Amino acid sequence: MNSQHFQTPVEYLKGVGLARAEVLKKELGIFIFEDLLKHFPYKYIDRTRFYKIRDINPEMPYVQVLARLVSKEVLGEKHTKRLVVQAKDDTGYIELVWFQGIKWIEKTLVPGKVYVLFGKPGSFNGKPQMAHPEVEIYSSKEFKQKGNLTLQPAYNSTEKLKQFSLDSKGLQKLISSLLDMHAKDIQENLPLYILNKFKLAGRAESYKNIHFPDNQTQLNEATYRLKFEELFFLQLKLLKNKLLRTQKFKGNVFASVGHYFNDFYSNKLPFELTDAQKRVLKEIRIDTQRGVQMNRLLQGDVGSGKTVVALMSMLIAIDNGFQACIMAPTEILANQHYQTISSLIGDKFLEIALLTGSVPQKKRKIIHEKLENGSLKILIGTHALIEDKVQYQNLGLVVIDEQHRFGVEQRAKLWRKNIIPPHVLVMTATPIPRTLAMTLYGDLDVSVIDQLPAGRKPIETRHYYEAQRLRMFGMMKQEITKGRQIYVVYPLIEESEKLDLKSLMDGVEIMSREFPLPQYRISVVHGRLSAADKDFEMQRFIKSETHIMVATTVIEVGVNVPNASVMVIENAERFGLSQLHQLRGRVGRGAEQSFCILMSKDKLSNDGRVRLNTMVKTNNGFEIAEIDMQLRGPGNIEGTQQSGVLDLKVADLATDQQLLIQARQCVEDIFARDPQLALPEHHILQAAFQSKNAGLSWDKIS
Ligand code: ADP
Ligand code: MG
Repeated sequence: MNSQHFQTPVEYLKGVGLARAEVLKKELGIFIFEDLLKHFPYKYIDRTRFYKIRDINPEMPYVQVLARLVSKEVLGEKHTKRLVVQAKDDTGYIELVWFQGIKWIEKTLVPGKVYVLFGKPGSFNGKPQMAHPEVEIYSSKEFKQKGNLTLQPAYNSTEKLKQFSLDSKGLQKLISSLLDMHAKDIQENLPLYILNKFKLAGRAESYKNIHFPDNQTQLNEATYRLKFEELFFLQLKLLKNKLLRTQKFKGNVFASVGHYFNDFYSNKLPFELTDAQKRVLKEIRIDTQRGVQMNRLLQGDVGSGKTVVALMSMLIAIDNGFQACIMAPTEILANQHYQTISSLIGDKFLEIALLTGSVPQKKRKIIHEKLENGSLKILIGTHALIEDKVQYQNLGLVVIDEQHRFGVEQRAKLWRKNIIPPHVLVMTATPIPRTLAMTLYGDLDVSVIDQLPAGRKPIETRHYYEAQRLRMFGMMKQEITKGRQIYVVYPLIEESEKLDLKSLMDGVEIMSREFPLPQYRISVVHGRLSAADKDFEMQRFIKSETHIMVATTVIEVGVNVPNASVMVIENAERFGLSQLHQLRGRVGRGAEQSFCILMSKDKLSNDGRVRLNTMVKTNNGFEIAEIDMQLRGPGNIEGTQQSGVLDLKVADLATDQQLLIQARQCVEDIFARDPQLALPEHHILQAAFQSKNAGLSWDKIS
C-alpha cells in the first residue's frame, strides 16, 4: 500500500482497540491495516441465490434457503437432546436440527417469521433436513441494502481470537469497515500499459472484490489481478537484486582456457561429455569471462555428472591463476568428492587436498600454509573450509554441493575469502520444478543437466506389497548370485530415534534369517554408530566383503558403490517422493541393469499410492519434483522450508505456473528496456519499490 493509512497500527481501527489488537498480532501476525487487508478469505460461501426447498438435495454444498418457521420443540434427554424445528416455503417442508447451543438458539427462533437459512442440505428419513444451519431473520429491506446475496468470505480464525469475538464473522466486520473507510486510498501500483496488456482489474477494486465479491466473475478477476501483482513484485525484487549485485560486485575474469583444462580434457577425461554437460560448461564459461560475479545454480539428477562439470570449471579457474574449492555438507560426501576427483585427475597433475573436521592438526596446518602460498590448487571439504583460519591466496571459484544444507551465514563467510568475491556454483541433486526455481533462486542463474550419460540402463522400479515379500527375497537372492550387492533402507522415524533403531534392528533380524551366514554377509549402518564404526561398515560393503547393506537413510547422500544394483526401500509409503528418488539414485551407477524395490504395507493412502506409482512410472527427477509439488504444495518441497520467499498470500506456485512465467517475463522485459526504472511509465514501480515492504534484502544471495 502506498498510502500512509495502511501503515496505521491495527488498534486504531474502529472496533479493534488494544486488547483485540494484541490477539490479532499474536494469532495472525496482523499489526497494521495493510496486514488486515491482506488477510484474505480462505474460501467463499455461495450466497448468491436462494434455493427452493424442493430443489435442494444432499449432494449439494452449502445452500441458502428462505423459509418460514412452523414449529420448534426440544426432544430427547441428555445425549440425545436436540432442538428440532420445522420450516417451509412454497415448495415444501424442511427440518432443522441442533444438538448444541440448544437453549440459546431456541430462544431466538420465533415460529411464524421468515428466516434466511444457510447450511449443508442433508436428509432424515428421506425428508430434507439441515443440521446446525446459520439462521438470520429475513428483512427484505436490509437484504436489498446490504446486498447479502453474495459470495460470503470465510476467514481463518483461532480459538483465542474467537474469545474476542473475532471469528470469521468478526474478522469480516473489521475488514468491511476498513474497506468502507479506506478503499479509496488504495493506490494503483502497476503501470497502465501492464494493466492493459494483461487485462488486469484495478487495485482498489480488486482488494474490495477479493473480500466481498458479488459473483464468481468478480472474484476471479480480483484474484487474478492480486496474484499477478504478488508474483510481479516478487520477481521485480529478485531481478533487481541480481542487477544490483552485478553492478556492485566485480567478478574474477577467467579469460582463457589453458593447460590444465586442455590436458584434462584431451588426456584424462575417460568419457565423452553429454550434450547437457557441454551446454552447462559453456554457460559457466560465459559467466566467468564477463568480469561479473557468477551465482549459478546447477541442478541435475543423481548420476547426471555434475561433479565432472564442477571439476572442469575449477580447472578453468586454475588455468587463470586462481584456486578453487568444493564444499560438501557431510564428511562422507567430501570424502567421496575427493576420491572421485583424485582418480579423475590422477597423480602429479595438480595439488589437491581434503579438509574435514577429522583431519589432524598437523596436517591441517600444512594445508593452511599451502593455501596461503598458493601451491594448493583445489581444496575439498566440509564446513572446515570456511573457518576463519582458512586463508586462500587467490580463491576464484567456490563449488557448493547440496546447497540447501548450508546456511546463509556460512555462504556469506565464503564471500569474504577474497577481495573480489569468488564465483559461486551451487550444485543440487534435488531437482525442483522450474517455477519454484524461478522464485526460490530467482536471483541466481540456473543451469540444468537434464540428461544421463549414454549407455546407462534406466533403473527398473517395482512396487511390492507386504504379501509379496517372498518374491522380493527371491529377487534379492538372484541378484546376489549374479555377484551384485544390495541396499535395504529403513525409514527414519523422526519423533523417535529409539523406534527408528528398533525398526532397523527388526529388519536386520529378518534379513539375517533370510540371508544367513556363512553364505551371506550383511553390513549395518545407522545414525547411532560412531563415525569410525560407520566407516568400517561402509568400507566392508564398498570392498564387496558384504552382500547386503542394511541402513537407515544415512546413505541417502553420498556413497557411490557401482556394484550395488538393487535398492530395497522398506515402508516406502512413509517416504516423500524426493527422498525416494534420492535413494533410488544410489543404484544404477554401474553397467548392469539396476532395480529399485519399493516395499509397502497392503493398505495405502491416496497420496501414498500416487507417490509409489509415480516412482514406478518415471525416473525423471524434474517430473517427480513437479508431482511432489502438486501433492504437498511448494512450501513443503525439500530445500524450501526456511525460505520467506514462498510466503505468498494469494498466488500458489503449484497452480499458478503460467502466471508466474508471464510475470517474470514481464519484469525481464522491463529491466531490459529500463534497468533504472527511469522511464515515466515506470515511476509508479519506483515508488512501490521504495515503500517499506519492497525493501531490498540481501539474504538470498549465495
Ligand atoms: P552427480 O554428482 O551428478 O550425481 P557424478 O558427477 O558423481 O554425478 O557422476 C556419476 C558417475 O557418472 C560418475 O562415476 C562419473 O564419472 C560418471 N560420468 C559423469 N559424466 C559422464 C559421461 N558424460 N559419460 C559417462 N560417465 C559419466
Ligand atoms: Mg554428486
